[in-house]
Amino acid sequence: MTMTRSCACAFLLFFLFRYEASSSPFLWGFWAHKFINRMAVYRLPPPMAPLFKKNIDIISENAVNPDRRRYSVVGEAEKHYIDLDAYGDSAAFLPRDWNGAVRKFGEDSLRKHGIAPWHLQQHVRRLTEAFRLKNRSLIIKLATDMGHYVADIHVPLHTTRNYNGQLTGQEGIHAFWESRLPELYAENYDLWTGAVRYIEDPAETIWETVFRTHAGCDSVLQLEKKISKGIPKDRLYSHEVRNNIIVKLQSGEFAGKYHKELDGQVERQMKAAIRLTGDLWYTCWVDAGQPELETSETSYEDDPPGAASGTLPLVRPEPDP
Ligand SMILES: [Zn+2]
Repeated sequence: MTMTRSCACAFLLFFLFRYEASSSPFLWGFWAHKFINRMAVYRLPPPMAPLFKKNIDIISENAVNPDRRRYSVVGEAEKHYIDLDAYGDSAAFLPRDWNGAVRKFGEDSLRKHGIAPWHLQQHVRRLTEAFRLKNRSLIIKLATDMGHYVADIHVPLHTTRNYNGQLTGQEGIHAFWESRLPELYAENYDLWTGAVRYIEDPAETIWETVFRTHAGCDSVLQLEKKISKGIPKDRLYSHEVRNNIIVKLQSGEFAGKYHKELDGQVERQMKAAIRLTGDLWYTCWVDAGQPELETSETSYEDDPPGAASGTLPLVRPEPDP
């Protein structure tokens, strides 16, 4: 049975919601998004750090909100991915700017295949503007969401049509890579990335990131296939009780061998997401003229549910001026 992207994501969300409530702190998805945002805050230099540290729980706890509103806010879902392989060999020549891409492919077609890199560029401009205005609640809201979108473009399966292995008989690989593996192994990851760096060309960096992430798709898919063939079928999965529900998960043996073959890929991608999140926050602040920021607690105001596209200035890609 072929799953649609929304079905797979609905499954994943259910899976993640269930895990979030469980006692295990380790999972990509919800746990990783929160952790990436939290770690990025620790990298900020003194002039920015006080506001972000004061609001670190808000920045971390709300890191998952963009996923929560995927089904309630029109136009949200496509911000989390881009199916680069949908463009074949011409993917390398995709216009880097939104207007150029719309002229070439049309907005509907772009949205169908995901708009993550274009949306993130717009998000950078908006956060820069929020810093310029010294609007603390908008800064915290946009920075929080930015961490989520940055993390998503570091997950290889967010850059392919075969996002859940549904085209190659590997259904479930999405949650396997981004939830099950970190759940088992993130405890031992070294995720400290050092001080932030200014990014000269955010758009170029975002696109480089997307292509680098996409280059990892082959190993994500092929290694899982190879490992699964080498393990007897009755040892591939195990059943665990989570919140009084029995769930079927990849066995420790399967996960261990896969994780070893991936040779640090999950750790590298998490680390890169922490690095880029902090670097982009810092770059926006520098480009806004390094404003002094009042240090006080603020709030995260989510986008209204059910709103139609066109009435969502925070989330809809705007044409370049
Ligand atoms: Zn997402």
